[in-house]
Amino acid sequence: MTTADSGRGTAARARALTKAYGTGETTVLALDAVDVDIDRGRFTAVMGPSGSGKSTLMHCLAGLDTVSAGGVWIGDTEITGLRERELTRLRRDRIGFMFQSFNLLPTLSAAENITLPMDIAGRRPDQEWLDRVIDTLGLRDRLRHRPNQLSGGQQQRVACARALASRPELIFADEPTGNLDSRAGAEVLAFLREAVDSLGQTVVMVTHDPSAAACADLVLFLADGRIVDRIEAPTAAAVLERMRRFSAPAATGPAGPAASEGSGEGS
Ligand code: ADP
Ligand code: MG
Repeated sequence: MTTADSGRGTAARARALTKAYGTGETTVLALDAVDVDIDRGRFTAVMGPSGSGKSTLMHCLAGLDTVSAGGVWIGDTEITGLRERELTRLRRDRIGFMFQSFNLLPTLSAAENITLPMDIAGRRPDQEWLDRVIDTLGLRDRLRHRPNQLSGGQQQRVACARALASRPELIFADEPTGNLDSRAGAEVLAFLREAVDSLGQTVVMVTHDPSAAACADLVLFLADGRIVDRIEAPTAAAVLERMRRFSAPAATGPAGPAASEGSGEGS
């Protein structure tokens, strides 16, 4: 597996990405021919109403789920069509994950949790990098603690360090602040921002919180399995305003019921 260059470019992309669940009359079209480019070294937030396909998009981009049609690339590697074993290796080597639940092992220390995926893979962490991640996340004096001795925010920071430990090209975070109080959530967001600004990572984060989305460089809005809008350099107010339009009655403009197709601000 070649290591992709770390310069600018596209960290991940999808073309006509379609994902249907179920068959026949019960089919749910979770993603409907989505085209998306995730820029390297940027922080991208994904928002949209519940059930709009945010998690599915994340899972398909990360190779955690199969697609029904279309293609997905991580860097220059097309992952659609890879065999499971190659896909597992690619995920392990190039992608980090954070979820709403931290998924830390309760019997292991923070330090052990952070390096667990690498230990399982038989890879030795780059100690210099690991030190940087641990210090950036402010976890230096928490390394020997077990998860139940840490606050929720600290636990999520451990999960963040675990996602960063192998220095993945790409971090996917699905509502990583969803289980945190607002202060702990703000901490984690600051550290994701830091991972992009100081550590040069690429982050894609699903959130339903406009102020969380405002930490990103770009917000993509999904509705009914399509990307319908985007806001560059978002503010919480602009994001909130855009989200409100999802719950407002259709057709605020002259375009009729299909007006949701996103000719909103930014584009
Ligand atoms: P979001 O994360 O935006 O809330 P999801 O990506 O989880 O949305 O879901 C998108 C659509 O796909 C929803 O209608 C959901 O019910 C459906 N869906 C998601 N996962 C499955 C699954 N495993 N089986 C069947 N339907 C699913
Ligand atoms: Mg979801």
